[in-house]
Amino acid sequence: MQVTILGSGSPIPDPERAGPSTLVRTSIGDLLFDCGRGVLMRAAAVASGAGAFQALFLTHLHSDHITDLNDVFTMRWVMSFSPNPLPVFGPSGTGGLLQATEAMLEPDIGYRLAHHDDLEWRPFAVVTEVGSGVIFDQGTVRVTAAPTDHAPAHPTVGYRIDDDGRSVVIAGDTVPCSGLDQICADADVLVHTVVRRDLIEQIGLPRLTDVLDYHSSVPDAARTAERNGVRTLILTHLVPPPVPGTEQEWLDQAAANFNGHVVLASDLLTVEV
Ligand SMILES: [Zn+2]
Repeated sequence: MQVTILGSGSPIPDPERAGPSTLVRTSIGDLLFDCGRGVLMRAAAVASGAGAFQALFLTHLHSDHITDLNDVFTMRWVMSFSPNPLPVFGPSGTGGLLQATEAMLEPDIGYRLAHHDDLEWRPFAVVTEVGSGVIFDQGTVRVTAAPTDHAPAHPTVGYRIDDDGRSVVIAGDTVPCSGLDQICADADVLVHTVVRRDLIEQIGLPRLTDVLDYHSSVPDAARTAERNGVRTLILTHLVPPPVPGTEQEWLDQAAANFNGHVVLASDLLTVEV
């Protein structure tokens, strides 16, 4: 398998970092996890795209993780030459999100159907709302979901992808919790969203300080990796974005709590699994 961080940013717009999104390339094709700002621009850089995704998996419905859902939904439709429904997995509420996305796009859908004679079908998604257990099983690829803890955003899920003896976990946004521990057991790679507690407390802005109680700090994520025997930890969704020259601080905070390999994400970072 191969993991590519399509977007390593957060809700805060950043010229260098797209919104949260991770591409996992497996033996049955590309699996997309979340679809934040700029996801299809970054996917294009690694020769992937809306038509190539075998499925989209949403960790939760916070806006920064779904910003470009409408783009994935539309491009899947207009760039396919036969009906090509988008399989979407996500927590409870995902079905309503897709219905609302389709409703939002209704004028565009009408324009394109009227304009392209060979486009005879509407865009559509096949939605599966998930909680825990194996939710996807194709060829040698199996995806397992587990509940995470990002309250008051609820429900939220993390995913583990197993393919031919290798494993990747997408934590999404969460504080340390038993659900995440279960899917992290002995994983090769853990992709974990993190915030810098020390910097956010220094900044002291209440709107920013609020995020501390429902995200993992860098040491939190490192301890989750260590506790579960993970081999490589990828830190992503970096809040606040690292000032150039301070990258080592992030790595050091993780290394103080984790004996495995730590990687600080940038957009298009790729790790072989
Ligand atoms: Zn979130």
